[in-house]
Amino acid sequence: MKILTFDIGGTEIKYAFCDENFNLTQKSSIPTNAHEGGVKIIERVIEIIKSFDDIDRVGISTAGQVNSVKGEIVYATDTIPGYTGVKIKETVERETGIPTAVENDVNSAAVGEAVFGVAKGHDNFICLTYGTGIGGAIYLNGKLFTGSSFSAGEFGHIVTHSGGKDCTCGGKGCYEAYASTSALVNRVKEASGKELDGREIFEHFDDPDIRLAINEWIDEIVVGLKGLTYIFNPALIVAGGGIMNEEYITQEINKRLQNELMASFRKVKVIKALMGNDANKLGAAYLASQL
Ligand SMILES: [Zn+2]
Repeated sequence: MKILTFDIGGTEIKYAFCDENFNLTQKSSIPTNAHEGGVKIIERVIEIIKSFDDIDRVGISTAGQVNSVKGEIVYATDTIPGYTGVKIKETVERETGIPTAVENDVNSAAVGEAVFGVAKGHDNFICLTYGTGIGGAIYLNGKLFTGSSFSAGEFGHIVTHSGGKDCTCGGKGCYEAYASTSALVNRVKEASGKELDGREIFEHFDDPDIRLAINEWIDEIVVGLKGLTYIFNPALIVAGGGIMNEEYITQEINKRLQNELMASFRKVKVIKALMGNDANKLGAAYLASQL
């Protein structure tokens, strides 16, 4: 089976072929040009599909909340204008005749990690992706749990500070306003006056102001994970996002989480996502293979 698999994000549309052994080949990408709107993005995806022969399935991982049964966007922020309501599966299948699976990006990554990655063999785990915001996915009893309207796992908007900082969702005190990579970047800027990205921050680890900012930020991560551990009692928490490549973070999260949890929950392990960006494409390809 030859699967063409896509990962649609705010800045890039990545795609690759996936063979029956789930190896990704011929990885490519084009700019999303998100300002042109959601409909145009899908037109471009269809053009790419039509430029190849002999494709058996299409898998699409995408930003936004996705009705994975109908394959349409339930809700997307203004990062991609006009994306809400776009019927991706219906449009792609009508234009190309190829069976197509569509799933949200963090959910796709969770499937990728469950089938091929760090969560292989685990039936109960949660995923969080730390970046500009915080994305989440819930994998229960061996499958994705997507909620009553396909929006479950919006962990970034759990309130960890009542009445706290403004959030992009319109609320206040959300987890992502304190624990995302952007929140770390802001915290370091306030503490040291330096504008550094995630990787550069860790190059300044010897600066006591920056180290304190990092440690306070890790405490914020732990607050959210503690609550989620009590809800889901997961065996595993998969932490994704480029920042998690800093081993110090997952080490500290595990140490601090263990200290705070009731004894019966302490089996939980926080592990860095294994496959990075490929997890999305592999997860979507796997879902397509199951059609
Ligand atoms: Zn929020």
